[in-house]
Amino acid sequence: MQTTFALKGNLVYTPVCGELAQHPNSYLVCENGTVAGVFDVLPERYRGIPVEDYGDKLILPGFVDLHVHAGQYAYRGLGMDMELLDWLEQNAFPEESRFAEETYAEAAYRIFVDALLHSTTTRASIFATLHRPATLRLMQLLDQAGLPCYVGKVNMDRNSPDYLRETTEQSLAETRRWLEESSDFRLVHPILTPRFTPSCTDALMAGLGRLQREFGVPMQSHLSENLSEIAWVQELCPGTRFYGEAYAQFGLFGGDCPTVMAHCVWSGEEERALIKENGVFIAHCPQSNMNVSSGIAPVKQYLQEGQKVGLGSDVAGGAHLSILRAMTDAIQCSKLRWRLVDQDTPALTVPEALYMATKGGGAFFGKVGSFEPGYEFDAVVMDDSTLPTTRTCTLTERLERIVYLSDGRPCAKYAAGRKLF
Ligand SMILES: [Zn+2]
Repeated sequence: MQTTFALKGNLVYTPVCGELAQHPNSYLVCENGTVAGVFDVLPERYRGIPVEDYGDKLILPGFVDLHVHAGQYAYRGLGMDMELLDWLEQNAFPEESRFAEETYAEAAYRIFVDALLHSTTTRASIFATLHRPATLRLMQLLDQAGLPCYVGKVNMDRNSPDYLRETTEQSLAETRRWLEESSDFRLVHPILTPRFTPSCTDALMAGLGRLQREFGVPMQSHLSENLSEIAWVQELCPGTRFYGEAYAQFGLFGGDCPTVMAHCVWSGEEERALIKENGVFIAHCPQSNMNVSSGIAPVKQYLQEGQKVGLGSDVAGGAHLSILRAMTDAIQCSKLRWRLVDQDTPALTVPEALYMATKGGGAFFGKVGSFEPGYEFDAVVMDDSTLPTTRTCTLTERLERIVYLSDGRPCAKYAAGRKLF
């Protein structure tokens, strides 16, 4: 395999939140899996390297889905008339229990991985289900597809039906075994995944905290998504001042434990301060927040506060796997928030949404989501000739049309320096 090569086309990316870097008709050089640079003319030292010429197409950094449930992909677009807690009982739990069965898990995860492969997403932080063998199989399929992802075996030992609940001991033993068995993948890595506080006893959380320190793995969960959920957490954890403390008390809230929390729709001042202090990533999932009537997260404020924010599809709370769609949802939600909730905070822009979809969420994976030198080489090539218009558009306008109109299927895709198709 060639380790040094270049792509040629119209390069667009966001080194700084809200600012588009545009390099029409330029070269993006990959050296040993990372970006060597962007050049108008190929420098002497790169003469003779293979060049894939994508002509007038747009080349964007690979997109990052910071929150998605692979085990819910089968029922995306269903049950959307329910609120979160009912929706979990009636949709999520029965479906996820089917992943105990190997043949079902195989079929469902193949569909999910194929969809992810052909989307603009190059990296994702994924919830599987509580079943260890099925989770390992999902990791294997993603690894074979060339998608560098985090995948979590879910932990649940309370407030869930008998058919989808482990004992505390079982949950910890299975998690340990899964961590040991998942160390060999090339691109896919494990991430601890307590479903959310209502599903996990203190004993389980304490055990996961110990496993986190022993294995040095990151962690993902849900935070302050929905008002009835937050009230429930308050009842379950009377000693905590806010939801985030229910994780923080076990060392599972950033700091030495790289953490991504989905939603943060209702995080109050103290919680936000701790999120920032501990460098917790916020996965903003606007479509899910609308579908299960959670609310409108103050994402623009999070960006202004200097929080680390990425976008998540949250399938199947979100019906669409496309992060382009998540970008438009985020922008539209922020307009409603500006109009209806907070007139002092303007709406998000396309360049801000692109930043969250690439470099913002990408930072959870390291140097990911930009074409700056030293970044991992993740790129998608978008063909907007499939979106005919009589107008002559600038590069900025062409990006906006792709974000709002594209079906989300790139014509070529690269992850970690490797061409996937
Ligand atoms: Zn979720």
